[in-house]
This record gives sequence, structure tokens and C-alpha cells, in this order.
Amino acid sequence: MVNKESEFRVKVAVRVRPFLQREKTHEQKSCITIHPQTNQIIIGDRQTFTYDFVLGPKTQQDELFQTCIEPMLSNVFDGYNVTIFAYGQTGSGKTFTMTGGNILSIAEKEYGIVPRAVQTVFDTLQNRKDCRATISASYLEIYKDDIIDLLDVNDKVLDVRDDAIGNTIVIGASEHTCHSIDDVVNLLKKGSAVRHTGATQMNDESSRSHAIFTLYIEQRLRDKNSNSTIVQASYDGLMQPLKPTFDESYLSAKLHFVDLAGSERVARTHNTGERFQESIRINSGLLALGNVVSALSDPKKRAGGHIPYRDSKITRLLKDSLGGNAKTLMITCVSPCIVDLDESLNALKYADRAS
Ligand code: ADP
Ligand code: MG
Repeated sequence: MVNKESEFRVKVAVRVRPFLQREKTHEQKSCITIHPQTNQIIIGDRQTFTYDFVLGPKTQQDELFQTCIEPMLSNVFDGYNVTIFAYGQTGSGKTFTMTGGNILSIAEKEYGIVPRAVQTVFDTLQNRKDCRATISASYLEIYKDDIIDLLDVNDKVLDVRDDAIGNTIVIGASEHTCHSIDDVVNLLKKGSAVRHTGATQMNDESSRSHAIFTLYIEQRLRDKNSNSTIVQASYDGLMQPLKPTFDESYLSAKLHFVDLAGSERVARTHNTGERFQESIRINSGLLALGNVVSALSDPKKRAGGHIPYRDSKITRLLKDSLGGNAKTLMITCVSPCIVDLDESLNALKYADRAS
């Protein structure tokens, strides 16, 4: 199969959120100008960046979905893994973009990418007569480089490995079969509630952790010339069903939605004997992810297989869903406020490295 260079590249969208009420009250000034026609964004006085998509503060959830997400989803039905990230500082709109306003009391208009994508997946598969599909979901969190199951809370730390044919498997992750969009939204609610009141009760836990909601889509397509009855495929005890031996062809794909840890630099104070020393740390997973995504955009590194997936849990977990035969979109969320200029500029640079 011939793939154009551009098809491998990670696509990048930038979404500038509107001013929040309290920012309006404090008459916050904007530091960002956007030019949607040319997909350019200008921050501060003169720094200009260009991305695949640039979405301004007036962009509604349905518009973002139709512009950036819907065109990618068709790949899932062809068996490609698809990964969609939200990146940005805490408060920039990652969760709003991914799941929607407040997932616990969410109105349909406010639905973010996940419920909309799930709806599209169900609609598409239900309308296909030649295919039996199974949809299931998992919801994991990576906190301090530990993988935790948000839908099976027993404080187990999970591990990742690759199977013989290159699929990445999270050993012991619970998978929940979904029959409707309501099933999926309920899992999102359940997991998100756990995420906010996680085991350590730390206030900033959810902003320091990555949340990964995954849909597993398995399709058994009836061969055109076959009139034998369909045989239920058996399972090998892991996540992947065995390939059926006749009558059907089997396609599986993963659709990951990743609400990344806040990208803000965290000031840490170490007490080193006599004096305090301050250092500014960026989440190590975000650093590793940036390196992987930027290596994927470099044809030489990709051809040489020098993609540093092993450097963090998040990149190991997503190994089979970034680059190669996978499609990836990074949505960088930024605040419009002048007070956030430094963090927004950092986020735009990170996004620029990816594209
Ligand atoms: P993050 O997940 O990056 O920390 P949130 O998604 O929680 O940020 O967004 C912070 C606040 O801004 C929330 O109150 C959210 O409802 C609001 N918000 C974010 N993006 C938008 C948007 N595009 N339109 C309206 N409100 C938004
Ligand atoms: Mg959030």
C-alpha cells in the first residue's frame, strides 16, 4: 500500500478557549489573534505559528467534531488505530474538549469529542448489514508513571507489554462491552468520578495525571461469496479474539482519547541541606510524548525505527497507536489571557514540534 508522507504525520489542532466569567470580571486582556483562513495563530506581539487546524473561542463542540474528528474516524472502520490527545495547561479546556463541560451533568450540545465519536461509531456499525461488531471500552489513568484502572478500583498497578504481532496490551485492564452510547457515557462518568477523588485525595492529582479512554472496535465482516453460517469467534483469554478460520474476515482497531496532564511547569522545592533549590519540572510523560511525536514527523528517524517509545508509560501504552499504521491528532488547548502567555507559548511550541 502506498502512503503519502503526509498521512503518517501527526496532525495538530489548536483551540483557543473563550474568556471565563471570572476573567471577564477582571477584564483580562487577550494575547492571541487567530487567522482561521490560513490556520495561523499569533501570540504576543509577533510570534506566528501555523497548524493543520486553528479554532477560535467561538468554535462550538459540534463544529470542532465535524472539522477535525469525523474525517479521522473512517480510518477506524478500516482497522487503523486512532489516537486523539488534548494537550495544554490546567484550565485551558482539555477536558471540555475531550468529554464536554461537566460530564456528570452534561447537555448534548456540550458533548465533547468522546460521546460524539462514540455516537458516530455506533451509527456507522449499526447501519452495516455485512458486519458484526463488538464495542468495548477501558478507562485508565497514568499517575506518577503507574497505570491505574479507573473502572476497576482495587489499587492494582497495571503493566504494558507487546504481543507477538505488535499489539500493545495492558495486562489486567478491565474491558467493558458497550451496547449503546449511554453505556459509554456511564463508563465515562464512573471513571471521571474516580479520577477526581482518587486514592491519594491530592487536589491536583487529576491535573498531573493522563486519562486514557479507549474504545475497542472489533468487526467481523461476512465474506461476500460465503453462504455458510457465521461462527462465533473464540477468545484466547487476552484482549484479542482469535481470528475466525472461515466465512469472516476480522478487523480490530483501537480508538484512544487522551486527556493529558496539565502542561504547566511545576515549581518544585527541594530541601538540599542548607539551602532551598528550586527547579521547574515538566511532566516526564509529556516530555517523552513530545519526543515520540516529533520523531514520527521526521522521515529519517521513522525509517530507522528510532522512535523512543520506551521512555515513558504513556508512550509505551500507545505504542501501536502512534505512527506506523495509526492516525494521530493532537489538540492543543490554550487560554486567551495575557497572564497565561508564557504557558500558552510553551504549548504552541510543543505543538509546533509535533507537526
Ligand atoms: P482543563 O481540563 O484543561 O484543566 P477544563 O476543560 O476543565 O480545562 O476547562 C476549564 C474551564 O473552562 C471549565 O470551566 C470549562 O467549562 C471552561 N471551558 C474550557 N473550554 C471552553 C470552551 N471552548 N467553551 C466554553 N467554556 C470552556
Ligand atoms: Mg481537565
